Amino acid sequence: MASLHDTEEMIDGSLHLEDDDGKDQPVRSVDRPRIERAIREILAAVGDDPNREGLRGTPARVARMYAELFGGLHEDPRVHLKKFFTEKCDEVILVRDISFDSMCEHHMLPIMGKAHIGYLPDGRIIGLSKLARVVEAVARRPQVQERMTEQIANLLIEELHVKGVAVVIEAVHTCMTIRGVRKPGCVCVTSAMKGCFRTKSSTRAEVMALMYGDRR
Ligand SMILES: [Zn+2]
Repeated sequence: MASLHDTEEMIDGSLHLEDDDGKDQPVRSVDRPRIERAIREILAAVGDDPNREGLRGTPARVARMYAELFGGLHEDPRVHLKKFFTEKCDEVILVRDISFDSMCEHHMLPIMGKAHIGYLPDGRIIGLSKLARVVEAVARRPQVQERMTEQIANLLIEELHVKGVAVVIEAVHTCMTIRGVRKPGCVCVTSAMKGCFRTKSSTRAEVMALMYGDRR
């Protein structure tokens, strides 16, 4: 019987890209030879020699890496929310500190952060690991943090018909830390409050206390 904390065995293994060396991965629609050509071109354009020994394997390596980092483009995050449990529960359910890595679509540099997701169910409960799966699928594509936050909240509204959802994302954007204004340590925080978390301040305060209560 399915439990709330169902884990990997139950997840349909349609697109798993953890394989480090990139072999035998069912990557669909990522044109690796094209990425390889582009990387060779970039290396030449910045003034290096793509044929020198140290760089010879780089285009293929980067192509495998991009297939992994952008794997979410070929995955529908909704699939993770299709299998829910009918449960009478009138309390907030929260998973916090779901770590993720994404890619800033403006600079193609990593965004590294944590998502906190709280929801008030309306008869439908989802396995907790599925929330992390949704974050992963939404993160692994060219992204902006604001949109990612909204997307996660909307997915829960649309698929679980929750009474309310609160998504807070905190992330470090390397396009702000290693280039441009170069402000290491600055963290970007975005939130999306829907349903009762938007309309009722006491409910919103409750979920924020759960997210941050014993910290800060
Ligand atoms: Zn950026």
